[in-house]
Amino acid sequence: MTNPHSSLPDDRAATAPYHPRGDSRQLSDSSSPTPAELTDCLFFSPEDGRIWLNDQRMLLLHSSSFGALRGEVIERLGLEQARGLFTRTGYASGARDARLIRERWPQADAAAVFRAGTHLHTLEGMTKVEPLHFKFDADSGFYEGEFLWHHSCEADEHVGAYGIGQDPVCWTETGYAIGFVSGLFGQMVIFRETECRGMGHRSCRVIGKTAEQWGDVEQDLRYLNVSQAVTGPLVAPAPDNPLSPSARVNQPQALIGASAAFNAATQALQRVAQTPATVLISGESGVGKEMFARQLHQLSDRRDSPFVALNCAAIPDNLIEAELFGVERGAYTGATHSRPGRFERAQGGTLFLDEITSLSLGGQSKLLRALQEREIERVGGVRGIKVDVRVVAATNIDLRKAVADGTFREDLFYRLNVYPIALPPLRERRDDIPLLINAFLTRFCQEYARTPVGLTMRALKVLLRYDFAGNVRELQNLIERGLIASDEGQAIDLVHLFRNEPMPADAYGLDDHGSLSNTGLHAAPSVPRAAMLETLSQLDQGFSIEGLESRLINEALQQNSGNLAAAARLVGLSRAQFAYRLKKHQRRKC
Ligand SMILES: [Zn+2]
Repeated sequence: MTNPHSSLPDDRAATAPYHPRGDSRQLSDSSSPTPAELTDCLFFSPEDGRIWLNDQRMLLLHSSSFGALRGEVIERLGLEQARGLFTRTGYASGARDARLIRERWPQADAAAVFRAGTHLHTLEGMTKVEPLHFKFDADSGFYEGEFLWHHSCEADEHVGAYGIGQDPVCWTETGYAIGFVSGLFGQMVIFRETECRGMGHRSCRVIGKTAEQWGDVEQDLRYLNVSQAVTGPLVAPAPDNPLSPSARVNQPQALIGASAAFNAATQALQRVAQTPATVLISGESGVGKEMFARQLHQLSDRRDSPFVALNCAAIPDNLIEAELFGVERGAYTGATHSRPGRFERAQGGTLFLDEITSLSLGGQSKLLRALQEREIERVGGVRGIKVDVRVVAATNIDLRKAVADGTFREDLFYRLNVYPIALPPLRERRDDIPLLINAFLTRFCQEYARTPVGLTMRALKVLLRYDFAGNVRELQNLIERGLIASDEGQAIDLVHLFRNEPMPADAYGLDDHGSLSNTGLHAAPSVPRAAMLETLSQLDQGFSIEGLESRLINEALQQNSGNLAAAARLVGLSRAQFAYRLKKHQRRKC
């Protein structure tokens, strides 16, 4: 089964029918997911410009600018339209958070899962949610809940702009509650504010029931614009749409991504696929140039003919022409029989030439001729052979610079550069990393006959911020290695992923006091001990256990201005234990 701490479980956990039943009165504070576990899902990558909630990118928005946006939408669209728009926006967040909880804690108690929504809603800063009671049974289709929302951000913004009114104003927050609970419950649960700060009440009071229990929900559903809201981005996109992210993930060999940079590249690919144009793909090593070329071939009307790939850098200079254009018997010593080259083998299809700059100038002029005349000549041959081949060339260096340096023919460059597609490096499409991890895990678990497992939160945090000099290929290798290094049924942790690679600097998360602090990935217990030793051995005068303890004790004391109890807490000791060790080290010094 899926590890409860895995971030990206197998599809079964996410799609299995869910028949939750629960009652807030039978809920213990310590049931997972706890507020602390949820807070651990939120972390910041300040140097990278991203904030993550588990594997979702988040945004820190000034509540005043949210208020300004809200005001402008109200002015432009009118109150009713604006209310619908913000309700649906909230619904999208709530439904996404429901998915997060179900994916990350697939084994958790149902009531704790429902309660997690109140914690996340609070963590995200919309309002402080106080659950009064809630009870549900999916089999009989029953849900009833009552909550208080304290100091709602949306109510404050609304009242600031419009004053106290007659109607509830926490639209986004109501949408969030509907999205979260309906997303878990599997049927529409409608929330309504019976009291609202925007109407002059101290707090907002929110009641949730199923549409059937309410009876008259026509108005609520209109705000949700149900047909759009439910089939929109909240629910997994239809698998029959070949470009929907889920469909891409389900075909491990297909292109995987949903980021803007990725979409720009795939759109360019689709546009050119149906044309006969020559395509030049550029991008760093490991970004998936051959995958894109294969996809281009699949999308073109040449898909039933061969796709032939050749890495020009892998063939010695003196053999490349024979490889590309074929050989006639007796062309040179050793050419004992005639054979076709890659051009002929790709007849009617696509020829992918990777690392095109490795081609010698002689090879370049023959390639140019083949492209211009649509005719090749085998090495040692005398007759021209007609070829109908689409050439897709790829390079990981700047072709214009190669032209300027005189190592690449300018006329060939223009011939190839009809339709250039630049593939972004993985670090510029980090939002795709969770999708890719999931796809690689699924594939390798199948290949190695392993139970699908996910990554620990710590490992996910590092991967989301890792530099990936080797791009998608490096991520794929890391996941494969992680799976091999971890035990069956065990979540993949940092120690399984990294050996000698430099890891990114620590991420920032929320500490117990709610302040942003270094999440201390490198001090984590499952980082190889050697790494800790290495750090310690860099201390100025070497180290010993005794010396380390003395240093820790003193630093803890200094940091807490001599307060023994506080210093003891910091290093995980009782006051008495701390005092004993302090005395011991003071005696040693005397
Ligand atoms: Zn309210």
